Amino acid sequence: MASTATPHVPEDHILGVYNRAPLAFERGEGARLYTAEGEAYLDCLAGIATTGLGHANPKLVAVLKAQAEKLWHVSNIFRIPGQEKLAAALCEATFADEVFFTNSGTEAIECALKMARRYHWANGEPDRIEVIGFDGAFHGRSYAAVFAAGNPSYVEGFGPPLPGFRTLPFGDHEALKAAIGPETAAVILEPVQGEGGARAFPEARLTELRKLCDEHGVLLIYDEIQCGLGRTGKLFAYEWASDAAPDIMCVAKALGDGFPVGACLATARAGSGMVVGTHGSTYGGNPLAMAVGLAAFEELTRPETVENVRRATGRFAQGLAGLKDRYPDVIEEIRGKGLLIGLKLVSNNRAFMAAARERRLLIAGGGDNCVRLLPSLLITEAEVQEAIEKLERTCEDIRASASS
Ligand SMILES: *Cc1c(COP(=O)(O)O)cnc(C)c1O
Repeated sequence: MASTATPHVPEDHILGVYNRAPLAFERGEGARLYTAEGEAYLDCLAGIATTGLGHANPKLVAVLKAQAEKLWHVSNIFRIPGQEKLAAALCEATFADEVFFTNSGTEAIECALKMARRYHWANGEPDRIEVIGFDGAFHGRSYAAVFAAGNPSYVEGFGPPLPGFRTLPFGDHEALKAAIGPETAAVILEPVQGEGGARAFPEARLTELRKLCDEHGVLLIYDEIQCGLGRTGKLFAYEWASDAAPDIMCVAKALGDGFPVGACLATARAGSGMVVGTHGSTYGGNPLAMAVGLAAFEELTRPETVENVRRATGRFAQGLAGLKDRYPDVIEEIRGKGLLIGLKLVSNNRAFMAAARERRLLIAGGGDNCVRLLPSLLITEAEVQEAIEKLERTCEDIRASASS
C-alpha cells in the first residue's frame, strides 16, 4: 500500500538499501584494515570475497598507477590490447573460447542469460527460454539476475515476474530431471553458493548435471563470481568435479581485487548467437580495468597462491573444528569449500558479526543464519591463527550474553 507519511530523509543522503555497520576505514594493507583513528581490524570479509589478493596489493597498485598515466578509456569500438591479453589468459586456463568484459558480476550474469537464450533462438528454437536456477542462489541485482536466483525477498514489489525463470531446490537432482525439458534454455548454478551460506554443490552431482544438460541440449552456466579464481583451492570450483565444465561462466569480484571488473566466458558454440549489435558496454573491459585484471589474474594463477589457499584452508578447518567442539551452543555446523567458509550458528548471525567486530575481526553474513569467512587468498598462517583466536573470543562473548 502506498504510504502517505512524509518520507524519511536519510541524514547521510544514502539510499537506505544497506544495513551498514557504524564503521569506516581509511586504508588497507593485505588482510588488515585501518580506521582514520588507526585502529586495526583483521579483514576476513575482503569486500565480500573481492580483495582476494589483499588490500593495496603493491603489484596491482604499481600497475594501476602506470596505466592511469597512460590511458583510461577509449570505447569498445576500438581494439583494446589488454582485453585480448586477459581473454587469452582466461581461455587458456579454462574451457572457454571467448570472453565479454563487464564492470560487475551482475553484468556478467546478464550477458550469460542473454547469450543462452540467443543461442537457442539462433538455432531455430526461439521458445527455449526457460532458465532453471536453485534456491539460496545469488546472481546479482539486475532484473534478470534476481529472477534467475528467485529469492522471494529480492523480487517482491518489483512488478510481475519475468517470464522464463524457475527455481528448484539446491542439489535436488530428481526435481531437476523432472523440470528440464525442451523449453529449458539453461541451468544456472554457483558450484559453491556464497550468499546462500557457503553451500557446496556435491562434486558428483556437478558431473551428473553436465550430463543431464547435454542430454537435453541445455546450456550450463556457472556463476563463479564468488567461488572462482582460486578461492576453493582450485582456479575454478567446478574443477573439483570431473567432466563438469560449463558452456558459459561468470567471474568478477577477485578478478580486479576491488577494481570493478567482471567477465562472461563462453565456448564458441554457446557464444555463437551473440553477433554484432546484440550486446555491449561503455566501460566494460576498458584499459584501466584490463591492466588491473591482467596483473590480478597473473597473481591469482601463481602456484604459490593456490598453495597458500590450501594451507590456510587446512589451518582454518582445524581451528574451526576445535571451536565447534568447544562451543556447540554457538556453532552448529561448519561448511563451504576452501576459503569460502560458512559457520552456521545457533544464535543470530548479525549479533555474532557485531560481536566479532568488537574483537576487531570482520566477517560476512550469509543465508541460513550463517556467517562467512572470505579472507584474502594470501592470508598468512599467523593471521589465520589470529582469526581463530578472535572467533574464540567472539564465541565466549556470545555464550556470556546468552546466559546473562
Ligand atoms: C557478488 C555476486 C554477484 C553479483 O556481482 P556484483 O559485482 O555485485 O554485480 C553474482 N553472483 C555471485 C555468486 C556473487 O557472489
